[in-house]
Amino acid sequence: MHDDIPLTVGRATRVLTERIRPAIHSGAVPLEVGWHALPGESIPPADGLALDFEPYAVGTPWGPAWNTTWFRLRGQVPAEWAGKRAEILVDLGFDINMPGFQCEALVYRADGRPVKSINPRNQWIPVSATEIDLYLEAAANPVLLDYHPFLPTQEGDVQTSSKRPLYTTRRMDLVLFDEQVHELSLDIDVLLELQSVLPATAPRRMRILQALDDALDALDLQDISGTARDARARLEEVLAAPAEHSAHHVSAIGHAHIDSAWLWPVRETIRKVARTAAGMTELMEIDPDFRYGMSSAQQYAWLKEHRPEVWERVVTAVKDGRFIPLGGMWVESDTVMPTGEALVRQFTYGQRFFREEFGVESQGVWLPDSFGYSPALPQLIRRAGFEWFFTQKISWNQVNKFPHHTFLWEGIDGSRVFTHFPPMDTYNSQLSGAELAKATNQFRESRVASHSLAPVGWGDGGGGTTREMTGRAARLRNLEGSATVAWEHPNDFFATARAEMPHPPVWVGELYLELHRATLTSQHRTKQGNRRSEHLLIEAELWAATAAVHAGQPYPYDEIDRLWQQVLLHQFHDILPGTSIAWVHREAVAAYERIYSDTAALIESAQRALVGAGSSVITLNPAPFARGGVPALGAGAAATPAPTSTFSGNVISNGIVSVTISDEGLITSAIDLATGREALAGEANLLQLHQDFPNMWDAWDVDRFYRNRVTDLRAVESLVRTDNAVTIVRAFSKSRVTQTLTLAPGSRVLRIDQETDWHETEKFLKIKFPFDVRAEQVAAETQFGYQKRVTHTNTSWEAAKFEASMHRFVLVEEPGFGAALVTDSTYGYDVTRDSTEDGVTTTVRLSLLRAPRFPDPETDQGRQTCSYGLVIGASVKEATEAGLDLNLPPRVVTGEHGFDPLVSLTGEGLLISSVKLADDRSGDVIVRLYESLGRRATGSLHLHLPVTSAHTATLLERPEGNPLPITGDGISLHLTPFEVRTIRLTR
Ligand SMILES: [Zn+2]
Repeated sequence: MHDDIPLTVGRATRVLTERIRPAIHSGAVPLEVGWHALPGESIPPADGLALDFEPYAVGTPWGPAWNTTWFRLRGQVPAEWAGKRAEILVDLGFDINMPGFQCEALVYRADGRPVKSINPRNQWIPVSATEIDLYLEAAANPVLLDYHPFLPTQEGDVQTSSKRPLYTTRRMDLVLFDEQVHELSLDIDVLLELQSVLPATAPRRMRILQALDDALDALDLQDISGTARDARARLEEVLAAPAEHSAHHVSAIGHAHIDSAWLWPVRETIRKVARTAAGMTELMEIDPDFRYGMSSAQQYAWLKEHRPEVWERVVTAVKDGRFIPLGGMWVESDTVMPTGEALVRQFTYGQRFFREEFGVESQGVWLPDSFGYSPALPQLIRRAGFEWFFTQKISWNQVNKFPHHTFLWEGIDGSRVFTHFPPMDTYNSQLSGAELAKATNQFRESRVASHSLAPVGWGDGGGGTTREMTGRAARLRNLEGSATVAWEHPNDFFATARAEMPHPPVWVGELYLELHRATLTSQHRTKQGNRRSEHLLIEAELWAATAAVHAGQPYPYDEIDRLWQQVLLHQFHDILPGTSIAWVHREAVAAYERIYSDTAALIESAQRALVGAGSSVITLNPAPFARGGVPALGAGAAATPAPTSTFSGNVISNGIVSVTISDEGLITSAIDLATGREALAGEANLLQLHQDFPNMWDAWDVDRFYRNRVTDLRAVESLVRTDNAVTIVRAFSKSRVTQTLTLAPGSRVLRIDQETDWHETEKFLKIKFPFDVRAEQVAAETQFGYQKRVTHTNTSWEAAKFEASMHRFVLVEEPGFGAALVTDSTYGYDVTRDSTEDGVTTTVRLSLLRAPRFPDPETDQGRQTCSYGLVIGASVKEATEAGLDLNLPPRVVTGEHGFDPLVSLTGEGLLISSVKLADDRSGDVIVRLYESLGRRATGSLHLHLPVTSAHTATLLERPEGNPLPITGDGISLHLTPFEVRTIRLTR
């Protein structure tokens, strides 16, 4: 027969778009609208409802950037609409080409109860009474991405944003809703999408096209409402045809990825969460099958504190099993940069909140969007009691396609966690035909499995799942030619996936994201704040626990909880990575300043209780190894320093190492005196300035070509030598850098304290250390250990890692000799191999500062400080200790006496990472330790406090197994490589 497929597709598409969808609503009656634009920041809803409202004409521009406008909608449902379904449609001036990232609103009843959110693709409000009296809290969030992606903008901070109105309302009407037309639109939508992904001449496609033609023939375009039912009848048969036996199955979970801060400040996220949660609990009223998952205990805590009316609805829905707390973390944090203890706290604070508020704990870790995943995570995930891990971000890789969707992920210690990446490659699924076909066709485990997961809904102010999406899901439950779809708890998906894949493939090591590599460097002050705050809090817990046990001082549980939660919030995957607007980073820096001073107060209070009043000089040592004769985690008089190192000409030596610093301020020689071994292969401490203008994602990305253009900063403005230090000042471009290089007595670390007055644009500052070391791999510290990365670029996978992460150290080592770099506030480095006539050398460069202009046009401008060090002659042990030494400096105070540590540890490679009192406030002492060298270790934990029993515990501090035997030598320990062990001591 003659056939014209495009004719049918074109017909259905046009009629759906131009006639059917517009016919879903009819009979518009404009509402009486009042408005009140707030002059400053937003106010609580109760105050908003009590405002005076001026008459407002729809079409009047509203909303300068970041402004809140309250609208009041009043009206009456016409008597002739009795028995029909009325709705309200509100268009605040949306651009429906963007699902979120713009203005949005939360609708309240006059009694303060929230109704639902209003978003670009979710503009309806249900009408439940004939008298309309509703209030809209509308936020004029500016569009910062999409219209002009990645161009510098001043709109990203209320202090610099424009004052002109950004939006113009288009309608605020009472309308009739025609359910049959709505259902017809979804029928046609699903079938049109499905036929578009079927093989060109597949019989199933032909039947669908014929059914569409038949349905359109049945439709009177002058009377859509009156003929929709007839049209739907013509589609019944094709919609009832069941899926194939081998059809892929998509486990859908309603979702809205809400970044805890990003192109909006934290205060706006609080409202985004409230709007979305209100909308999703409303959607549950419409579709009984619908399930919604929300991560981040912090976001729930915000609801509880700021929007109790929404919180109540969420609590009920969680109890009904329909609103699902996901992830068990405080926020969806970055996982590459937080220290081990901080990642543990993401889990302990997240799960504690879910347990205390809802009586549930998450079974899996949900991190769809963080920028790469640390190889320490599998162990932490398992030891925190989780069963599964979920992300999709690795699908953003620039070069290499990840080989699995469902697999076991193995970490540095050998722990494995069952992991799934959705083959749809998105956390914002709409359940489109294209997405379902992508899931079916991309799924890498199809030989043995048929289930994948799909988070469904618009995030970041898109309002989450829409009724169109639930309508699609209902039609896709069991439909020939399509993947099948069901709303399911992610735990149920993972149980099924695990059952159908008893022998999953294994991926070992980090999940490196081949994109967003500059997130290790952008917004230096935020990164410095994180590193310092983590170490200060670990120290505060140590001294507070010691003071509680030794001196009976009350342990500041509430204050420590509050401070950790602040630090954890700022580890969110757009704050710590430095990819938020100026407003967010301005507030982050201020928050860190408060954390420093509040933590310092805790430390000082504990110290006073521990050392007493007196005038003796006492050194407290928060590091997990003895320093200057002061025991680890204890305090006493430090040993008298050895003779001071001094300069002779350009050479400074302290009897351990000898360093030559040229008149250019470059390190030209660094010798380990015990072996006579030269560590360097060329000039070190060379600052290098690169042009750095990535193709997109300015704060996120550094593109490979940045290396091709570089300026060595050799010019010296001044160079001053003192006893054991040299201070070098360099001016370049519009900036100035001051470095002080110090060699302390008894140390093998040449310390460099740097202050930069940074006024560059689109530049990347690195500092270069060429080592005369033939390192096959570098060892870069990660949480509770280190990871090795090869130094060559044999394959595309290795070549893609041209910028990589470190914590406190990066080490290059060949058998017999190594050298390391340690840092106190940076996280990025790159490594290259060079071949000379003398052999292969290894160059490591630390990443110090960047100057991207989007989303914060002033990123990193002004005064920046950091400290780092060159460790001359180092293995992992020396590198680890040098890193800890830099980040946990001793404290010198005056008092009456020193004190013993609560516990001490013997055993090569074993280190204590935390001493604290238990979160359950029982008074038990928690000691966490780990094996740091990557080998098996035997040792003892010696107890210097009265203990009645001891247990191994989970990371959530729950005792496991039988009590540990305590002998005169303490608790004996046997740890596997990189094992993290938590021990709970009952006093
Ligand atoms: Zn995100």
